[in-house]
Amino acid sequence: MDKNNYFLINISLLHRCGQKYYDKLLSDTNINASQVPFLILIYENEGISMQELAARGCFDKGTITKSIQKLEENGYVQSVPSFTDKRIRNLYTSEKAKNIIPQIYMIRKQWWERLTAGLDTSQQEQFSFLLNEISEKARTYNEADEKQSLPIFGIQKLTLLDYPSKMASTLFCGGCNMRCPFCHNKGLVFLDETMQKLDNDDILSFLRKRKNILEGVCISGGEPLLHDTLEPFLRILKSFGYSIKLDTNGSFPERLKDLIEKGLVDYVAMDIKNCISRYEETCGVSDFDVTPVKESVSYLMEHRIPYEFRTTLVKEFHDEKAIREIGKWLKGADHYYLQNFKNSSSVIQSGLHSFEPDELYAFKKILEETIQQVDIRGID
Ligand code: SF4
Repeated sequence: MDKNNYFLINISLLHRCGQKYYDKLLSDTNINASQVPFLILIYENEGISMQELAARGCFDKGTITKSIQKLEENGYVQSVPSFTDKRIRNLYTSEKAKNIIPQIYMIRKQWWERLTAGLDTSQQEQFSFLLNEISEKARTYNEADEKQSLPIFGIQKLTLLDYPSKMASTLFCGGCNMRCPFCHNKGLVFLDETMQKLDNDDILSFLRKRKNILEGVCISGGEPLLHDTLEPFLRILKSFGYSIKLDTNGSFPERLKDLIEKGLVDYVAMDIKNCISRYEETCGVSDFDVTPVKESVSYLMEHRIPYEFRTTLVKEFHDEKAIREIGKWLKGADHYYLQNFKNSSSVIQSGLHSFEPDELYAFKKILEETIQQVDIRGID
């Protein structure tokens, strides 16, 4: 066995034997070895958030969420919404945990003494130093790798509806520059701590295996064009032979043009939130500058690639006057979809209303005066 393999096996052996040791000595509690690092980090940093906890130990969100849930259920940890940002939860140890921590410190000390028995002080110091150095390198690599990945929080493995005439998968990127009150992807927009980022390697491996079955990949959001990591990700999908459909709110015309001109996007579905005069209230961002959105519209209407415009119609934001203005703005567009608003618990603002089918058909008729093809989605 070569020395690199010894290294991996030895690290794994240290980890597993340590876990067994802690589990044995903590058997009279309901804390297991994998929860110990979290408990100690919370105890030594009362009020730490889950994100900070994840960053400290390069833990993935899923592992942390499960461990913290268990520690909470067993009365060792309390999670409290942050005063400044309700999406963040701060973690504190309970009295029950505080009583047990000295015992955990003692177990840690005894285990270290067992491992280093026979080593003098300078050897121990040298070992600690080298381990820290190597761990820091691993952390740095991990952080760089994280930065290079596309923040995807959801996947629909098969869709026959999202990509016109193609069998596709849809990927949902997190984060958005808008806050549309009718948005039904609240989780992707606000990215609360329960949202778990999917591993890019897992997604790519799935798409590599399906490359002869699926024809396209839809990149949705959130707003995918927020992320610099989109381009390298699309390059990989293109190398598999996929057609790419991009869903966008049109806020980043330069990025949109760049990806299209590099041949990385084959179809665009762009949201038209409303007529220009009502954009700000409809996208939920005060002082919103519509100029970039207008630029994206003009660019797509140059017909470099197939595209569609689409609007989710909500009673509180749209009326005949707004529809007439949109018709003038998009005059000459290829294809425009009207989507009726659907209420659900994941909508950003509650209490919004959809239109009756006859109202939608009336809007369609108005838009057909200036747009080649207008269709309605979302009526039963
Ligand atoms: S509907 Fe609005 S807030 Fe929701 S993802 Fe799309 S652009 Fe962002």
